[in-house]
Amino acid sequence: MKTVLVGVGQAGGKVTSALVDFDHEMGFGSIIGALGVNTAKADLQSLQFDTVLVGQDRVKGHGVGGDNELGAEVMQSDAREVMAALDGRITAEAESIVVVAGLGGGTGSGGAPVLAKELKRVYDVPVYALGILPGRGEGAMYQVNAGRSLKTLAREADSVLLIDNDSWHSSGESLEEGFDSINANIARRVGLLLASGEAVEGVGESVVDTSEVINTLRSGGISALGYASAEASEDPDENINVVTSVTRNALLTGTSLPNAVEADSALLVVAGDPETISRKGVERARRWVEEETGSMQVRGGDFPLDSGRLAALVLLGGVERSGRVQEFMQRAAAAAEEAEQRDEESDEEDKLFQNEDLDNLL
Ligand code: GDP
Repeated sequence: MKTVLVGVGQAGGKVTSALVDFDHEMGFGSIIGALGVNTAKADLQSLQFDTVLVGQDRVKGHGVGGDNELGAEVMQSDAREVMAALDGRITAEAESIVVVAGLGGGTGSGGAPVLAKELKRVYDVPVYALGILPGRGEGAMYQVNAGRSLKTLAREADSVLLIDNDSWHSSGESLEEGFDSINANIARRVGLLLASGEAVEGVGESVVDTSEVINTLRSGGISALGYASAEASEDPDENINVVTSVTRNALLTGTSLPNAVEADSALLVVAGDPETISRKGVERARRWVEEETGSMQVRGGDFPLDSGRLAALVLLGGVERSGRVQEFMQRAAAAAEEAEQRDEESDEEDKLFQNEDLDNLL
């Protein structure tokens, strides 16, 4: 799927960078353009692609400090500059636009929904978002911001591919230490998904096509992606269990959104040397995905790759009713309530102090 990426905010820029690097290293050529957008000048400096600094009149290049309402406002007022920078990059070749952002911060959290809306207004290709959820250990502000942003983003974008920062990082690392490895993991998985419809070698009936990705995401709302791989045998008949077990692992343990299994639609892509892919294994794996997700719309296809391993990518569309998303929304709502209560309490305290001041005066 020929894609133009727009990375908004710090996480958005870094994840976009990782995706661009992976696509380049693999020689896929599915990312045909990238742009970084931020309110913080320093965060744009390390990016290898063109960038736009927004909100200079409001924050003078210093970022919005986690204020996602301000993030949304500056994106709204500078939308024209961002759209102008994208003009000419989103060519007729483009099959999708992906807005990438961390949902817990300020610039990406507030800016991504505004930008997605603007892009949808102007372009005919699907506008997706790659949204990063704060990990459980991140503070209340991150949860509140992400809750708000996710709701709006799911409404504005054609689908929000959601990645929980608690997934895909090695245990024993702090979240910050883990960012590079999380970003590399995101890049590998999302990069393979974007490239999966691009295969030119071994084009045949079973090869997955870009339209399957688009159709799987057509149900809108929130989507998730699972991935797992394993060593393969040269004989496809010996790989029945390899295909079924990588599929199970992709959905049950290798997903971007743990425990999000119920879905409206799904796509199972089996990647590897076409000579080694067991058709029987693929058929069984697909039926298993149908049972597990409760979806009658499970598409499938191969992604021919020169590799001694077999991998499964499972894309789930319409997971917003799954337990994981509901749990996150409750966590965000509880954090918002607590923050409100704290505000009220500090208002009360302010009043008390004011009264004391008055008392002292009298
Ligand atoms: P912004 O620049 O104001 O949009 O804020 P950030 O992009 O820093 O957003 C903060 C959120 O993104 C937090 O939930 C962080 O955990 C997460 N985050 C920041 N940097 C990275 C990164 O490089 N990778 C990932 N996966 N998450 C990040």
